[in-house]
Amino acid sequence: MKNINFLAFAMPAFFLFLFLEYKLAQRKKRPEIFNYESSVSNISIGIAERLINLFVAASFYQLYYLIYDEYRIFEIPSGFLVWTALILATDFVWYWYHRLGHEVNFFWAAHIVHHHSEEFNFTAAARITTFQAVIRTGFWCILPLIGFHPTMVITMLIVHGAYSFFTHTQLIGKIKWLEYIFVTPSIHGVHHASDEKYLDKNYGDMFTFWDRLFGTFQEEEEKPKYGLTHPLKSYSFLWQHFHYYFEIYELWKRSKGFKARWQAVFGSPANMDQDIRPILEKRFLQDKSNPHQRLRFRNYLYIQLALCTLLLTVFTYYFDNLEIYDKVFVLSITIITLINCGAILEQRKWIYYLEYTRIFMITTYFLYEENLIMFFFVPLAIMIFAEQLFSLSKYYQNMILQLENVE
Ligand SMILES: [Zn+2]
Ligand SMILES: [Zn+2]
Repeated sequence: MKNINFLAFAMPAFFLFLFLEYKLAQRKKRPEIFNYESSVSNISIGIAERLINLFVAASFYQLYYLIYDEYRIFEIPSGFLVWTALILATDFVWYWYHRLGHEVNFFWAAHIVHHHSEEFNFTAAARITTFQAVIRTGFWCILPLIGFHPTMVITMLIVHGAYSFFTHTQLIGKIKWLEYIFVTPSIHGVHHASDEKYLDKNYGDMFTFWDRLFGTFQEEEEKPKYGLTHPLKSYSFLWQHFHYYFEIYELWKRSKGFKARWQAVFGSPANMDQDIRPILEKRFLQDKSNPHQRLRFRNYLYIQLALCTLLLTVFTYYFDNLEIYDKVFVLSITIITLINCGAILEQRKWIYYLEYTRIFMITTYFLYEENLIMFFFVPLAIMIFAEQLFSLSKYYQNMILQLENVE
């Protein structure tokens, strides 16, 4: 088999480390490190990003090659010193990408998703979105522009990305001597904290000296409270991805004059009008009847996530050998499943529509595979009759959305 994609192994590796972290947390009697809803939501967002990445990564790489071939400023040979320069340059570019991600509304709209999580563990590392990846790629273009060869840049980005996975855990305590040079989990935990003194600190990904140099370094003193200053009260897959863009749009609409509108898009998130989000939440989200209740059938979500992960792993492995309709099918069925998981956590009443859509897509896909696509209406008709005769949606809602009280 030609052109297999070894990034497929990232998924089993992720779950292996997550499993080890979970077991260690139990052994250390720190079960509070993990929270069911938040973990499901973090993993859902990670799956979507890895999936969409398959469709866009090649164009990112082509862009690096184009910039290198046409516009590079210096001729840089390869060699040990060049790798050292590249690792420093990569982290330096990251520092500014990340800092602007916190200081400019338009960039924060993408990066905020990484900070929604109020738990800080390996699942939080998975909270990356494609919007973030696109903006980051814009910054990474500086590296081939300087003259670093794209193959070196791509290798370095994989190493750099893998490093930051391991800084999202509470199980490794403070390692003071290492912090002089390297970002440790304790240092990155401070970056994820919402405590006043920890805000807008520790933007570095691998090294701490950029933060020391530019005055944004803060070591961990009191135990951090993880998450946003104004936490997002929703696990909706779509709302988590888009809420801040809506907030910017609302602020833009309210602003009068060029300067104010410019500020709405490129101003600081610290000046975002905090009345906006509750208004939008009223408009787009349904109030949960009782926030102290949780789902009884949590395994239903685990099964869906496990299937998505399995599908994503196989899909990644064989991606280059698949037909376009296979790709579109896997992309849409996975995204619908992730929206479904978020909607179940939010106890939305319309989720059975998603279930019907999924069944319809799966049957249509297999009919197409078997050259029987002209019978696509048969499963549709069965579903409509079944719904009319037995009110399946009612049974479904009553069963899946069963709640139990939590303290
Ligand atoms: Zn950040
Ligand atoms: Zn992080």
